[in-house]
Amino acid sequence: MNEHADHLIIHAHLFTMQGEGVGYVADGAVAVAGSRIVAVGPTPELIVRFQATEILDATDCAVLPGLIDAHMHTPWAIARGVAQDVAHWMQKALAPYARYVSPEAALAGTKLNVLEALKAGTTTMVDYTRPVPGWAEFFVQVGVRGRLTPTINALPPGGMAGWRIGDLYPFDEAEGQRAIDEAMAFARAWHGAADGRITVMLGPQAPDMLPREQLLQVKRLAERGGLMIHMHVAQGDREIDQMLKRYGERTPAFLQKLGYLDSQLLAVHLTEATDEEAAMIARSGAGMALCSGSIGIIDGIVPPSYIFRQAGGYVALGSDQAAGNNCNNIFNEMKLTALFNKIKYRNPTIMPAWDVLRMATIEAAHAIGLGDQIGSLEVGKEADLIVVDLTALNLSPVLDTPVRNIVPNLVYAASGHEVRDVMVAGRFLMRNGRLLTADEAAVRVEAQAQAAAVARRVAADPVHREMALMQAMAAGQL
Ligand SMILES: [Zn+2]
Repeated sequence: MNEHADHLIIHAHLFTMQGEGVGYVADGAVAVAGSRIVAVGPTPELIVRFQATEILDATDCAVLPGLIDAHMHTPWAIARGVAQDVAHWMQKALAPYARYVSPEAALAGTKLNVLEALKAGTTTMVDYTRPVPGWAEFFVQVGVRGRLTPTINALPPGGMAGWRIGDLYPFDEAEGQRAIDEAMAFARAWHGAADGRITVMLGPQAPDMLPREQLLQVKRLAERGGLMIHMHVAQGDREIDQMLKRYGERTPAFLQKLGYLDSQLLAVHLTEATDEEAAMIARSGAGMALCSGSIGIIDGIVPPSYIFRQAGGYVALGSDQAAGNNCNNIFNEMKLTALFNKIKYRNPTIMPAWDVLRMATIEAAHAIGLGDQIGSLEVGKEADLIVVDLTALNLSPVLDTPVRNIVPNLVYAASGHEVRDVMVAGRFLMRNGRLLTADEAAVRVEAQAQAAAVARRVAADPVHREMALMQAMAAGQL
């Protein structure tokens, strides 16, 4: 007797990401019922076994798990490309913008960024930002998987604008408590929403941005609520300088004593971590979010992800923010991650294509605490998958023998625009390159209007003259 499936995807070059490699199945098929995968295997087997409501022919396509972006700041798409190629990126480029991004502008940026990422095959977005009305609602509307992290810091009003580099900044504990309370209220409202597609993480912005007592309070709340912590760790000389001045300790040792280093932590960046510190954090069970493009552009650093993995830790890829990166595209991150590490170690065998594809899928799923639900195509997991058109000129020819060239081309040649169909939790969000759950044109028009308004407000404030890129403007370089 035939089993029922809502969707049967057939004749694919199937990359399940099961096992230790990419789990390739020639002429592969995936059967989906409700939100879950009910079978994975050769097409001839599954078409006999299943009666499907809809059959999707994926001939000449690769089908793989939806990509995971483990660290984003979606509102910053509203300031795409205004803060790169400078020293002191946060203080000298981004800070003057921060105060003029209204909640409406932030939401317009989020919408732009979510759709950009979705069209490039990202199905799970770990987003870190100050919550604005409509943020979680947009994730629900579009149908992507969101792991949302409201910002918690105790910085005085105005944040970093006006702070002199090298000074120890004062804490505003009332602001820290307000942010903690806001994050917990957000978690109560949204953790587990939309049939579990929306989950919440707690996000102390960085160990130097919250008093020790409030860091401990966040840790207690996370443990009690079963929530992970998503935090920038050892990012930039600013943080280490603040930690040494305030506590006389570097970040990793400080966090270890504080009880922060365990599998509930997603540690972002680790740009300043030594190899020994990175290995210590990896052995604690914490996951790492590696933002190759962003950190390459804003800091000129290749973080110690290779060491982190050698020590047994899970590394996920993140696109960070479009003010500096300047795109939120995991295909781009896979390529940069492979290249940067080969260059760093002067060794072409480091981080091969199949390996970074794992960092964008199954390894990322483990790093963000969803390894039992997503990241591979296997029975019982959520049906988050993408169909990539291999007839694109830059992905042709497709060869299977004697060498199969698909994975290297997905990592080194694809741009993300070859993603044809996207499914999350058993529901198609994009078909034939067309978004089904959001109005792409309206989102772009709104983002353009909001971005122009933000830019006008920045330009009206004399502080903007101190922005590092003003010199490049004056010199005719932009
Ligand atoms: Zn970040």
